Amino acid sequence: MNEGRVVPVRPVRVITRPALPIPQAGEIRREGGAWRDRLGRPLTDLRISVTDHCNFRCRYCMPKEKFAKNHQFLAMTELLTFEEILRVSRIAVRNGIEKIRLTGGEPLLRKGIEGLVADLAQLKTPAGKPIDLAMTTNGSLLVRKAEALKAAGLKRVTVSLDAIDEEIFQGFNDVGYPAAKVLEAIDFAQKTGLKVKVNTVVKKGVNEGEIVRIAERFRGTGVIPRFIEYMDVGNANGWRMDEVVPSREVVSRIAERWPVEPMAHTTPGETASRWRYTDGSGEFGVISSVTQNFCRTCSRVRLSMEGRLYLCLFASIGYDIRTMLRGGCTEKELEDAFGRIWTNREDRYSELRALGAAPERDKVEMNYIGG
Ligand code: SAM
Ligand code: SF4
Ligand code: SF4
Repeated sequence: MNEGRVVPVRPVRVITRPALPIPQAGEIRREGGAWRDRLGRPLTDLRISVTDHCNFRCRYCMPKEKFAKNHQFLAMTELLTFEEILRVSRIAVRNGIEKIRLTGGEPLLRKGIEGLVADLAQLKTPAGKPIDLAMTTNGSLLVRKAEALKAAGLKRVTVSLDAIDEEIFQGFNDVGYPAAKVLEAIDFAQKTGLKVKVNTVVKKGVNEGEIVRIAERFRGTGVIPRFIEYMDVGNANGWRMDEVVPSREVVSRIAERWPVEPMAHTTPGETASRWRYTDGSGEFGVISSVTQNFCRTCSRVRLSMEGRLYLCLFASIGYDIRTMLRGGCTEKELEDAFGRIWTNREDRYSELRALGAAPERDKVEMNYIGG
């Protein structure tokens, strides 16, 4: 019946990225219930990028020139299933992971994500403590999803918002998405009972003027803004050092307006330096990944949507866990492989960048590794 009819086939992308070999033997270093890498850093934090798709084209992450309308994202069959993600997460939590963050691409574009949240929210550390489960989102689907996420057990969410000024914000996301809608989503998420943080990437000459405006908008609301130095993640954004606004400048701008004081770190390996308003109106954070790197306490591993483990945000190659998962490996084999991968880690890209010694290489893109 269909003879002669051309059935359109969506182009499917198969993995072409090289992968690092999974170490099959060797020491697994462990201390205080967590795997330790070569620099003695414990593994406590897992970031899972659940999709490489996104409905925004932020210029610093997925610029349109590199991520055009016909860009070939990964096919569904390439993505880890929720069961596979859960299996890796269970092993991670048994071995020291205390925090899991879902990210992407845009994580809320992954169908049924609240089901994954519900399963991850059940995970407990060996000491019986529930894991700290969070999500980073651009907020565009949050009004639709916040209640289901809260019901599934999500406690907190980070919403990205680089400007309140519509022209500047829409210039960032490059798809004409209004800042007003993201602000609405933030308010809605908070009403739902989620704790909310806001991520603002600061780019010189573009949104420094928005720093105080964002601080002012969230002072006294319980929402914590975090100002992030623009980073050289991936190869698509054409990053230049002179586009970075150092975090100390962010703090001075806010301190010129309201008295502030530094806060102590609550957890080792925390990326943000925290500041509070002395009048009790809340706090904000700065993430100085470029000017004051925190490689020495970096305790994060990243799991991509296609099942690669990356030991650094600026890595170019990951370990192919998916082949193990789909090849019928046992729990013990997977656990040992994970432990050995972390034990062998010595990544410290930002430290090397600061020394002018960062390796020249193709890095994985931000929408793929998830921030
Ligand atoms: N799509 C979601 C979002 O935008 O929140 C989650 C994924 S996004 C890759 C995670 C975070 O990385 C966002 O807060 C985003 O602003 C940040 N980000 C992306 N590219 C960046 C860059 N080049 N430098 C600093 N932060 C960046
Ligand atoms: Fe999408 Fe987030 Fe990247 Fe923006 S930062 S393009 S919202 S993945
Ligand atoms: Fe961690 Fe790599 Fe960032 Fe250093 S550069 S803090 S090792 S992710």
